[in-house]
Amino acid sequence: MISTQGIGMTSQRTRDRLVERLSKEGISDQGVLDVIRKTPRHLFMDEAMSSRAYEDTALPIGHGQTISQPYIVARMTEAILQPVVPSKILEIGTGSGYQTAVLAQLIDQVYSIERIDALHSLARQRLQQLKLHNVHLRLGDGYAGWRNKAPFDAIIVTAAPETIPRELIQQLSFGGRMIIPVGEQLQQRLLVITREEEGVIEEELEWVSFVPMLKGQN
Ligand code: SAH
Repeated sequence: MISTQGIGMTSQRTRDRLVERLSKEGISDQGVLDVIRKTPRHLFMDEAMSSRAYEDTALPIGHGQTISQPYIVARMTEAILQPVVPSKILEIGTGSGYQTAVLAQLIDQVYSIERIDALHSLARQRLQQLKLHNVHLRLGDGYAGWRNKAPFDAIIVTAAPETIPRELIQQLSFGGRMIIPVGEQLQQRLLVITREEEGVIEEELEWVSFVPMLKGQN
């Protein structure tokens, strides 16, 4: 049984060091930093990997997927909380559930879709263990979004499509924002897209590297 508290390489001191590093790298939202400080990232990965949980790096979670790098989780979360904190968000790519857990401590209602059954089920167990009951998980294809729960104030996509999925824009409320890596394998542009009644506004944040957003449920 892995402890939520953590010892040694998963201890509070190790977590504090990660937060110090993120803040030096430019993450300034105190709420985001506090949530990262208290979220046990080591519980979202295989036990064999847990000694590396508080390094600022993406790590494998099986099925060819990765748990996102803490800096990217922090950056995307910080961006999606501005200019107003959304009250209902949709995440595409639950993966380990770590980004979902971070969002659930800052946003009222979190919906998240994953296409790989094994990852979806594991994430559900972990989020229940952490008593994050404002999270709603679904196994399915993120390209279709979650139509009967739309519109969302915000959408966060944690796998990279080659082009912006139109259906997801349709599921944003007016004034709502989507943060999404878009582009080819290996390198993508992280975009913030705001839906307005007349169309969308695109803003580019930085270059990132996400696993591809694949079509269909696995
Ligand atoms: N936020 C996750 C990131 C996991 S990697 C974390 O921090 O752990 C991206 C995830 O997106 C993978 O689990 C992958 O299976 C999932 N994914 C890829 N294409 C998808 C799609 N079309 N619909 C839903 N999930 C998708």
